[in-house]
Amino acid sequence: MEIGIVGLGLIGGCLGIDLSRRGHGVTGIARHEETCRQALERGIVQRAGSDFRLLGAAEVVFICTPIAQIGAVVEAIAPYLDPEAIVTDVGSVKAPVIAAARPHWPRFLGGHPMAGKAEAGLEAAEAHLFRQRPYVITPGPDTPAADLDILKSLVADLESRLYLCDPTDHDQAVAWISHLPVMVSSSLIHACLQEPEADRLRLAQALASSGFRDTSRVGGGPPELGLMMARYNREALLNTLAAYQRAIAQVSQLIQTEDWSALERHLQESQTGRLPFVAPRE
Ligand code: NAP
Repeated sequence: MEIGIVGLGLIGGCLGIDLSRRGHGVTGIARHEETCRQALERGIVQRAGSDFRLLGAAEVVFICTPIAQIGAVVEAIAPYLDPEAIVTDVGSVKAPVIAAARPHWPRFLGGHPMAGKAEAGLEAAEAHLFRQRPYVITPGPDTPAADLDILKSLVADLESRLYLCDPTDHDQAVAWISHLPVMVSSSLIHACLQEPEADRLRLAQALASSGFRDTSRVGGGPPELGLMMARYNREALLNTLAAYQRAIAQVSQLIQTEDWSALERHLQESQTGRLPFVAPRE
């Protein structure tokens, strides 16, 4: 197929690598000449430039820009697209992106490949990033079955695990397993920094090991990521934070009242409750 990718960063680059290797014709759109040169040199795309007319032959266009730009990019490229083209995105939040994009292109189909790396940009792009990772597609009631089939076949080319769901369900689910953990982990770091004794704080920092490394990792990541989650998934994130506050208050209460058997039950429930979230997938 003829594929267009707008935004040759980490995710756009990884898509380009895998789809090119699968024999698709890939055209990349980037704002900087240097990015286009690099993408061509590495064989990530077969054509690249900043002129939207390059997208005229594309049958499927992936918008791989930051979430804030997706709606405006769809609006900007719309006049240059084949009327039959399917436009999709890779943004980590779905409902607001679909609301911003679909008015400009009725054949817009939301998507979210759930794989990433700590680094951003085309330099970090690599093959097989999406292999065996979830790829969520959020069709609307009017999505033509044929469009969905085309996107499904590209997801199969990426060797991802396909999930179909409603955009709001997607946003609530990622709030639980991705966006809440970032806020909890960031709050953990803030709480530790409240230790008033400088010597004790230094001691805690010196003693911190794998447990602290695991639980603080996502909260110690790039601020832009957490900010994006809070801005674009605000309602869902607030729901999860309210539930988390209730859970913390419950634990505090059990310890306060020295209700050790109830605390043990609570910890047993979390021990077993964790398993379905982390069980190996087929
Ligand atoms: P990235 O490496 O920073 O790439 C973003 C790219 O978008 C950059 O190449 C940037 O180009 C380009 N861009 C920005 N505004 C643009 C515009 N108006 N027109 C054309 N290109 C534009 O970021 P990323 O990690 O690939 O993220 C891209 C998308 O993937 C986001 O929507 C994010 O939610 C989603 N996503 C990310 C991950 C992850 O873990 N990273 C995982 C799943 C989904 P310049 O170099 O010119 O600025």
